[in-house]
Amino acid sequence: MSELVWLKRDLRVRDHEPLVRAVNASRDSKAGLVCLFIYEPEWFAAVETDGSHLRFVGECLGELEGELARRGGRLVTRVGSAVTVLEELRREVGFIRIWSHEETGSGWTYRRDMDVGKWCRERGVDWCEIPQHGVVRRLRSRNGWAERWEQRMHARAAAPPEGVRGLPWVRSAGVLRERDLGVEVSQKDCQRGGETEAWRTVATFLAERGVDYRKGMSSPLTGGDACSRLSPYLAWGCISMREAVLATEARVLTLRGDREAGREVDSRWFGALKSFGARLRWHCHFMQKLEDEPRLEFENLHRGYDGLRDEMTASEEGRNRLALWSEGRTGYPMVDACMRSCLATGWLNFRMRAMVASFAAYHLWLHWRPTALFLARHFLDFEAGIHFPQFQMQSGTTGINTLRIYSPAKQMRDQDPEGVFVRRWVPELEGVPLEYLAEPHLMTESVQRRSGCWIGTDYPRPVVEHSVAYREARARLAVIRRAAEVREEARAVYERHGSRKQPARPEFAQRKGKSRQMELGLASEA
Ligand SMILES: Cc1cc2nc3c(=O)[nH]c(=O)nc-3n(C[C@H](O)[C@H](O)[C@H](O)COP(=O)(O)OP(=O)(O)OC[C@H]3O[C@@H](n4cnc5c(N)ncnc54)[C@H](O)[C@@H]3O)c2cc1C
Repeated sequence: MSELVWLKRDLRVRDHEPLVRAVNASRDSKAGLVCLFIYEPEWFAAVETDGSHLRFVGECLGELEGELARRGGRLVTRVGSAVTVLEELRREVGFIRIWSHEETGSGWTYRRDMDVGKWCRERGVDWCEIPQHGVVRRLRSRNGWAERWEQRMHARAAAPPEGVRGLPWVRSAGVLRERDLGVEVSQKDCQRGGETEAWRTVATFLAERGVDYRKGMSSPLTGGDACSRLSPYLAWGCISMREAVLATEARVLTLRGDREAGREVDSRWFGALKSFGARLRWHCHFMQKLEDEPRLEFENLHRGYDGLRDEMTASEEGRNRLALWSEGRTGYPMVDACMRSCLATGWLNFRMRAMVASFAAYHLWLHWRPTALFLARHFLDFEAGIHFPQFQMQSGTTGINTLRIYSPAKQMRDQDPEGVFVRRWVPELEGVPLEYLAEPHLMTESVQRRSGCWIGTDYPRPVVEHSVAYREARARLAVIRRAAEVREEARAVYERHGSRKQPARPEFAQRKGKSRQMELGLASEA
């Protein structure tokens, strides 16, 4: 009987345990192997899916098709809902087992996996799901989670399989593009998909770009180069988390060896790779939250914050604010530049993501759900398990994190002091003198005339006033946070989701208690 590998967000041949185990099983039984990717309408028609996601996946699948063919295998794609496609293939091929990675995705993938599980039980099909990274299924307690993460990351990586026995007669829809699926073609200038690109990205980061990671990551000007840019490759599994972690550790060892041998080493590398390593673990730490509580894609993590912003979000004023924020027309140049750059490239660095999310929540008083869905569509790296918990954190609905209300003007002065990024993405501010660029509405009439930029005509007035919005948001949140039952629930949230002290690993050990401080909201950030 044949075996079937169901490829989901794991579009690679390296360190792909389900693929290796399926190849071995099909070799033992002398049967064939179907390597299946399903174009599910629940995915490509979802509000959080953009043409750029389909293009990226198409690039990944194009490469995977070649890699499987070189090994004697074959990529089979079909369009349809998972149960329908699996039933179709079961009749055609008669497989008895499905191999796949576990998936922690959006609500529709959760429901679909339940349906597939039921279908497997009814048909007597064995579904072997294997962990994809550090997320633990059916986790009872967060205690000891970091140690398990370390163990998984240091387990042996699976070599790419050889001798794959593909079934040439099974029909495949081929690699499809946006148009084939009725999805609008994206004009974004995004990163290219595929395993080769993923490894090239890691290699350039670890060899050169990463040296200035700590200093360069927060500015949208330097972040594009200084950050790893691994996110879409991790989101679509073009590289496994384990291989990313191991490559980073190998680089640390090489640098240490060089230093011990008396060779010149830029000391910034050690701090850079320590910070980067911590973020690789955060990836799984955040995804674990959604795995444990799938409802937090839709509902506030802390129910004490329910109803907080509903009225504004549902009002006409709220809809207008959402439109201005989405289009980059809020009258705050740093927010507008970030939104416009994201719409054009599909990426933003962490600090700027946090700023635009917090601006929508605190200044515009919008519920995080519509703003999160909007950016889910426009981030090439959309990963539900990071995205929704991060949005909640930046909106103050977790009950366990510091309220960080960013001042867009301060962020511009700190992260784009010469105004290069702002002028690039908001060209109508080209002639505005630097001293007014963060807050152009403060220009006098004569400065507006001289700069060729009339506020309210060429560039919008601020949608809200920062100092007023800031004061109001703090006051509203403070009332809720003081309530005893809210504090009680916050303790329960921390028990379920808070990060614990990390095990001491020289490569990735964090400063003492830092992550717990962050979780409890004791660390400050402007
Ligand atoms: C509102 C908001 C939404 C976000 N949505 C997503 C998302 O949908 N997908 C996504 O991958 N990241 C998301 N992030 C986290 C972070 O901003 C991105 O991972 C990062 O900017 C991607 O660029 P990079 O790969 O160069 O990151 P690097 O700084 O090089 O980090 C390496 C990897 O570590 C992980 N990582 C980095 N920062 C974080 C973090 N704060 N929390 C969890 N994991 C992290 C990512 O997998 C990233 O690829 C979001 C952050 C915020 C504030």
